[in-house]
Amino acid sequence: MDRAALIDKLRDICGEGGVFHTPSDLMVYEYDGGVDGAVETGRPVAVTLPTTTEQVAAIVKLAHAAGIPVTARGAGTGLSGGAITEEGGIIVALTRMDRIVEVDREDRTALVEPGVINLELSEATGPQGMFFAPDPSSQKACTIGGNVAENSGGPHCLKYGVTTNHILGLEVVLPDGRVVWTGGRASGAPGYDLTGALVGSEGMLGIVTKALVKLTPNPEAILVQLAAFPDIDSASQATSKIIAAGIIPAALEMMDNLCIQAVEPQYHAGYPMDAGAVLLVETDGSAEEVRAVGEEIAAICRECGATEVRIATEQGERDRLWKGRKMVLAAMGRLSPNYYLHDTVVPRSQLPATVARVAEISADSGLPIANVFHAGDGNLHPLMLFDRRKPGDTERMLEAGKEIIKFCVSVGGALSGEHGIGTEKRDYMTLVYTAEDLAAMAGLKNAFDPGGRFNPGKLFPKGYVCGEVRALRAQAIAQKHGIYAW
Ligand SMILES: Cc1cc2nc3c(=O)[nH]c(=O)nc-3n(C[C@H](O)[C@H](O)[C@H](O)COP(=O)(O)OP(=O)(O)OC[C@H]3O[C@@H](n4cnc5c(N)ncnc54)[C@H](O)[C@@H]3O)c2cc1C
Repeated sequence: MDRAALIDKLRDICGEGGVFHTPSDLMVYEYDGGVDGAVETGRPVAVTLPTTTEQVAAIVKLAHAAGIPVTARGAGTGLSGGAITEEGGIIVALTRMDRIVEVDREDRTALVEPGVINLELSEATGPQGMFFAPDPSSQKACTIGGNVAENSGGPHCLKYGVTTNHILGLEVVLPDGRVVWTGGRASGAPGYDLTGALVGSEGMLGIVTKALVKLTPNPEAILVQLAAFPDIDSASQATSKIIAAGIIPAALEMMDNLCIQAVEPQYHAGYPMDAGAVLLVETDGSAEEVRAVGEEIAAICRECGATEVRIATEQGERDRLWKGRKMVLAAMGRLSPNYYLHDTVVPRSQLPATVARVAEISADSGLPIANVFHAGDGNLHPLMLFDRRKPGDTERMLEAGKEIIKFCVSVGGALSGEHGIGTEKRDYMTLVYTAEDLAAMAGLKNAFDPGGRFNPGKLFPKGYVCGEVRALRAQAIAQKHGIYAW
């Protein structure tokens, strides 16, 4: 099928205004939130904006018949290149499927379309006493479909768990255009956990067209504490001790001095400019519980050298403290024309050693590195500051990133805590997985998508799933393990 015929057929499905195909329209979709240089860019043949599951299924069936790759896209805030069409094809942008179909107060669930914005779901259900707990810092923009595909985390996932813990069921369009439901209202359905397999699958197994999500009751009381420390090491020690004491705060976040320098003059969150690091610790529960746990946390912080522990109980104060944390990335432009952040996880006990190694890498590379953490989870986001206009800066940044990842893996860490692998980290997968592990994962991919047309090129190092350029190496692996057919 030629391009013009394809566009016509897509218009028949989505209507005149539901298909973008001019170069200037397509250019916008060449990127996600990742950094050019660290993730690939790629121009799709067309972008479709369906409004119903039936339209999504029709687009997929058309693409399936024509052998064209299909990539789902939410708000494009992903940081690992997941929504970029490196191999061309059709983008299915789900942003017009943005209805909250039903809220069930009794069962505390919501049935939503994938384009619903994360924060808007909690805003809609808040007055009914419930919220959607996974809260990525991008929650004002990112979609539930994107959250499901990346198994996103956020500050409150320390206590409440990441996205996978909040998804009961999914309506999914499979790579051949069939529409299926996985999971359901009751938990613990027998058989394979297909919902579990789909969450975090980076849009490579199916396109989510509806999600049945769990809602969490609003807590009775919330306390946010700001603890300032002379350095990042003492803040890391306090983090470890809080968790070791058996306390599970709702959120436990850390920012170093560079983050404070970026954020405070812009957002006036109230962070002390001279602190080496600050911890934001949120506790929720009954009023009594919150007060008692808050005192325990304050004592641990002081024991670890905190120079100040401030308490915010009023909503306005709490929001101000949180705004600072949530705007760290946006504020980095005050310090540097470009930044690139990695998302890795280490066992919490390894945080102090990891922070020390990041400081060494910063010194060796000559690039400042700011640190913002979901500290309670051991999830780090080192932000490397660079200027892409300066010759050599991008290369030094990429090299520094590689060193950070290698160190995290060497202390038992994981490649990504929440941003996914995409194209950004696919070549690092062999650092943590053997060829056998990857072949087993490719087996799952091929069971859903034997043609390899859903979001191709993501997650696997080149050569591990079927596809033109990868066929030889992948076939050798497949033959060796006899796991999947071609
Ligand atoms: C400032 C900033 C802060 C961030 N903070 C966090 C954070 O705290 N925690 C965190 O986890 N992430 C964070 N992120 C990363 C990003 O916001 C999340 O990964 C988010 O879930 C992506 O959602 P999206 O709608 O933008 O998806 P996109 O970027 O559009 O897509 C991401 C992936 O999901 C797939 N996808 C999208 N919709 C569907 C669907 N309906 N069905 C199947 N696959 C689909 C795409 O193919 C792609 O692989 C942050 C990003 C930014 C820019």
